[in-house]
Amino acid sequence: MTLAINTPSTVTYAFDSSVPEKVQKIARRAMAGWASKMDHPRFFQLSNEEPGITFTMADLPGRRVGEMRLTQECRDAICAATAEIRLDNLTFRDPHVSKKDKMATAAHEVGHALGLDHSSGGINPNNPGKCNDVMKKILMFGTSCSPSTPSQGEVDAVKHVYGLSDT
Ligand SMILES: [Zn+2]
Repeated sequence: MTLAINTPSTVTYAFDSSVPEKVQKIARRAMAGWASKMDHPRFFQLSNEEPGITFTMADLPGRRVGEMRLTQECRDAICAATAEIRLDNLTFRDPHVSKKDKMATAAHEVGHALGLDHSSGGINPNNPGKCNDVMKKILMFGTSCSPSTPSQGEVDAVKHVYGLSDT
């Protein structure tokens, strides 16, 4: 079982100084997409003290647009996880990449930080019914297979991890 960050209740986050204001806005909107679907508008809270998630910019290899690194630290048998979300410099500074696709990337990496693995949802843009998961391994930029808000199934999975399920 994945050790989720900041369980239970809220997840704290911060931006590294490398992250431009425009990218911060996109990341905040991506987190708001998760939070509103979870009926928990204040699920994410900015905290520069001990952020659970730190966003940073990086030059990622190949066609990688984002990645998440989890670090687990244990002190006196109490373990805590923190995540670093790295957003690709080229992609996020490229004005030709839409805000929606950047948001889809951020939402995907946030999903990893919240403990989700890749979904087995389809990547076929002609079959949009299978494109609702932000946790698909490959986001198809510029198509409906690049959703910027999580599907109900993904939201339910995170609610379960964080003890927010109704049942
Ligand atoms: Zn991924």
